[in-house]
Order: sequence, then structure tokens, then C-alpha cells
Amino acid sequence: MNYYNENTVLYLDGKMIKASDAKMDLYSQSLHYGYAVFEGIRSYKTVSGQTRIFKPVEHFERLKQSALALNMPYNYDTDELIKATYDVLAANQLSDAYIRPLVYAPANMSFSLNTESHITIEVWEMQPFLGEKLLRVMRSSFQRPNPKGFKIHAKAAGHYVNSILASQEAKANGFDEALLEDMNGNIAEGPGANIFFERDGQLFTPAGGNILMGITRATVLEICKELGIPVTEKICTYKELKQADAAFFCGTAAEVIGWSSIDEYTFPSIWGDTLSAKIQSAYKKRITEDEITVSLKEAVRQDIKIAETTS
Ligand code: PMP
Repeated sequence: MNYYNENTVLYLDGKMIKASDAKMDLYSQSLHYGYAVFEGIRSYKTVSGQTRIFKPVEHFERLKQSALALNMPYNYDTDELIKATYDVLAANQLSDAYIRPLVYAPANMSFSLNTESHITIEVWEMQPFLGEKLLRVMRSSFQRPNPKGFKIHAKAAGHYVNSILASQEAKANGFDEALLEDMNGNIAEGPGANIFFERDGQLFTPAGGNILMGITRATVLEICKELGIPVTEKICTYKELKQADAAFFCGTAAEVIGWSSIDEYTFPSIWGDTLSAKIQSAYKKRITEDEITVSLKEAVRQDIKIAETTS
């Protein structure tokens, strides 16, 4: 896959530059130790043909929280980064894109704190991440990182060695993707997506603590509320998953994608008849809507702005 060509533009430390001219310091602490944080964001062409970034505030706020969790200097403003992202999309003439902001460290071979960070925002045309067909999933031999060893709520580059190992193992065994458990042996998440499963008209998903709290997971919870689908966040086991009617992964890149099986167990329900499929349709509709679904955070920010301009 070509992520860029001679015309591609990216954002680096406040400037728009050609991707082919961009340089990174090979002595960066990020490259040597996986000490960097990033986001995975999507933009879509809406039904009326506009380019819209889906949940940008949530993603850039998580980027900030990830950087702070890793003690990385973070002096960027969310609104400015969102504007810069729209500028990068426009400069590359992209609507349906994958957006990758990355905060990384300067040259530093020690483990000491840095006084500055660098930030880049790269965009490329979206390719299917897990595809469209139902997935055959394998219970991974790898567990998710222990929250006592890592800031698991941060989207840190180094955590993704674990994701790469799990995904490669699943594919080497003839599966489409991996399911990882946490250090207690309860089901956790995929290498780059959260999991939900359905049984007897109800949905279940692992509670927070040992997983990345996905923004898509939050959207699925919102959709369940709107559609009146009962959903429980709890400790979930592999045994329960193998008694489920259906299951799916959800994530910014994966969107909502159903499973056909976990190991030798085939989910008994026809995907199109499940509540999970209803959620998948609702998600597909939501991401290309013109109306920005005003999240609570955005609503609060707008209230603050209105208060500032009227006072
Ligand atoms: N878990 C992991 C490990 C991930 O990498 C991702 C993708 N960011 C997710 C869950 C889903 O998160 P989101 O919905 O915010 O993309």
C-alpha cells in the first residue's frame, strides 16, 4: 500500500509540508522505545457530499490524555488540530480518509523526560481494515498488556507490538483476526478494536479497566440506548462468548464488523437477523450524516464559547 506520493502533504509541527520532504530524527526516543502516542480517526463524505471528520473532539482529547499519561509535553489546542486536519484533507483532496495524528519525542537515547514533543498529522485514502465479510476469529495466545505495566487507557505506540503479534498469529493460523484476553483470562478486545456479543436479545461488552476505551464502543453504547437495546458492561468470559448468538468488533477503522465464528464455534444466528446487524446499519448511517451528532463534550464546549462571546 502506498501511503503517499510526490504530491502528498502532511502537517508537521504547525506547518504543511510535502510528505516526501518530511524528516524524522533517527535518534528519537519514540523510534527506539515505542514511546509515542497516536490516534486513528476517520473522515467521511456525507450524504450531501461534504467532508466530515467523525468525532474529532473525542479523538484529539484522547490524544492529549494519552500524551499526558506518558508524561509527554503537549502544548496543542484541539480546535487548532481539528482545523489543521481539515486543511490536510483539503490539500490532499480527500474525503473518505484515514487520519493519523502522532505525537513523538525528540532525540533522546535515555529514559529521561523531554522538554518538547513533535506532532504530525498524516492522511491517506481509506482502505478496508477488516473487510466487509463476517470474521473468523481466534482466541489469541497473547494477553493484552497488564495495566500495572502500561497506561492501558493511552493509545501508545509501544502497545501495538502486542497487537501486531496477536494479529499475525491469528493470520498464520488461518483466521481473520485475534481476540485477546486480559491478564485475568477474561476477554478483553481485538488488536485494534473492541468487542460486543449478543445473547437472547441483549448485548454484552467487557467493562473498562483492561481495555482501550474505544470511541466507537461509546458510539455503539449510544446507539443501543437510542434503539432501546439492553447492553451490559461487565467482566466477560470466553465461555460466555461461546454461548452467544452473535458477536462483533467495533473500532474507528473496523467500524462495526460481525463475526462468523470464534475458534471452532460458529455463531448460530443469521447475521442479518441480529440486533448486532441493526447496530451496524445505524453506525453506517451515523458516520455519513450531515448533522454533527453533538456529543455532550461538544455541547459543553459550545456553551462555554457562547458564554465567552456574550459576556
Ligand atoms: N482497542 C484497541 C486496542 C484499538 O487499537 C482500537 C482502535 N483505536 C480500539 C480498541 C477501538 O478504539 P476506537 O473505537 O476509538 O477506534
